[in-house]
Amino acid sequence: MQTYIVGGFVRDLLLSAEGSAARPNDRDWVVVGETPESMIRRGFKPVGEDFPVFLHPKTHEEYALARTERKTAPGYHGFVFHAAADVTLEEDLKRRDLTVNAIAMTESGDFIDPYGGMRDLKAHVLRHVSDAFAEDPVRILRLARFAARFPSFSVAPETMALMRQMVESGEADALVPERVLAELAKGLACPVPSRMLDVLEACGFWMRRYADIPLGSATRQALHRCILSGLPVSMRFAALTTELADERHVKAFLTSIRASADTVSFAETLKRIEVPLKRLASAEDAVEVFLKADALRRRDRMMLLLEYGSRVFPETLGSQAKQLQRRIEAALEAWCSVNAGAVAKTQTNPRDIASAVLNARCDAVRAAWQASEGS
Ligand code: ATP
Ligand code: MG
Repeated sequence: MQTYIVGGFVRDLLLSAEGSAARPNDRDWVVVGETPESMIRRGFKPVGEDFPVFLHPKTHEEYALARTERKTAPGYHGFVFHAAADVTLEEDLKRRDLTVNAIAMTESGDFIDPYGGMRDLKAHVLRHVSDAFAEDPVRILRLARFAARFPSFSVAPETMALMRQMVESGEADALVPERVLAELAKGLACPVPSRMLDVLEACGFWMRRYADIPLGSATRQALHRCILSGLPVSMRFAALTTELADERHVKAFLTSIRASADTVSFAETLKRIEVPLKRLASAEDAVEVFLKADALRRRDRMMLLLEYGSRVFPETLGSQAKQLQRRIEAALEAWCSVNAGAVAKTQTNPRDIASAVLNARCDAVRAAWQASEGS
């Protein structure tokens, strides 16, 4: 059987040989000269829904029949695939997105590189393989996240020009939000996510879809600090909303891109408490933060918000960041541990209970705040 390893594994293998930190992971195989029937006869298990992909009977690695594809309608599903025994390796590689992803390796370790992938890999260039790149707008997002993953790579000028054209022609409008979200999330998990934003801005994609979401230096700094502190991707989505004016905008944006409910609620709450959280000069600020963030019922989220604040707004917290962190945590503990039932019992008029409990919580926070002063 004629089989080749292709795609990310080969790219990362060559990069790691060059000394880069890229670690090759899953191997993807392409099979030439076979048919679905002959694969099944050989014991492979068919798994592909849209195109013929099989699992190896022993290694369970993925083997795809070499295929070509043709665009027949706009959008992600508008492709017709042709997988047959006469499709060559070169034809299969030609439909791939980037030259560095279109290198094949034989089982004996020889490289087959018809589109200059090894040259581009050496020169650290992300370049499209052929004009067919324009048929699938997901490739814009894939390229953008490869830029975030391999920050030393630049985008070939002709590829940037092609992406601009794809955006201007409206081809990229067909991308469904779920697909964009998946790629954005992967890009935000990369070492330098702002490179993804650079690419999406440079080709016009960002402006066309998210014109009212600014990506200025404050956003980039917030993202950078998320990376330095290893904050999770959900918090990096919040960093993307740094320059939005209020929680309504934050919610509208993150909902429109189909971010998870937790991500939306985190970012929205962050925006709501941003002013007192950045200031945090008194027990009153702490109370305002706890009230606006519903800290009593959402204590875990409150802890995450405090963590975000301490990592991403460190200049407001200044050199006393650690001390302030301890202090706000003590205040949170005080806020949450007031026994509402006991306070209620001290009231004769039921209408006074809510304000009595609130007062008790404020007193507790004030006491905790003072107790930790100078500690
Ligand atoms: P990773 O290390 O993230 O898995 P990868 O390059 O292997 O990176 P995959 O999504 O696993 O990415 O895809 C495997 C290969 O399939 C790619 O290297 C590329 O050759 C090709 N490919 C994947 N998606 C597309 C696409 N939308 N258009 C063209 N080629 C694609
Ligand atoms: Mg892969």
